[in-house]
Amino acid sequence: MSQDSPAAQPLPPKPLPKMTPGAEHYWASATREEFVLPHCGDCDRVFFYPRQWCPHCFGQQLDWRKASGRGTVYSFSVVHQAPFPSYQGDVPYVLAVIELAEGPRMMANVLHCAPDQIRVGLPVEVTFEARGDMKIPQFQPVHS
Ligand SMILES: [Zn+2]
Repeated sequence: MSQDSPAAQPLPPKPLPKMTPGAEHYWASATREEFVLPHCGDCDRVFFYPRQWCPHCFGQQLDWRKASGRGTVYSFSVVHQAPFPSYQGDVPYVLAVIELAEGPRMMANVLHCAPDQIRVGLPVEVTFEARGDMKIPQFQPVHS
């Protein structure tokens, strides 16, 4: 890995999410800075990740619910080695599993959080990271 100064050249862009069937509305909402979860009309539960059937009951009567954007850190890892050159400016950074207030768990980065601040149970809230023409739901510590 090069030891050149980080200012020597701009980093390449980070990868964009891969669009999967059933996830189009999720990403379009996120790009408007709205955080939504798929909801099953058959069993009245929300879930994550978005897909074309409910993982609880296999129902297909799906719609969307606006989520609170609140959650807590369920598990985390501090990443010290960039997985792609585009992440070299971010290390060390926090990758976490967030338990949403609504119940589902999702993987995201915890932004604006020093590695020694992160802990299991830390209250977090959604924030949106601009990437290309999209915005990515990420989380940050709740500052009360
Ligand atoms: Zn269901």
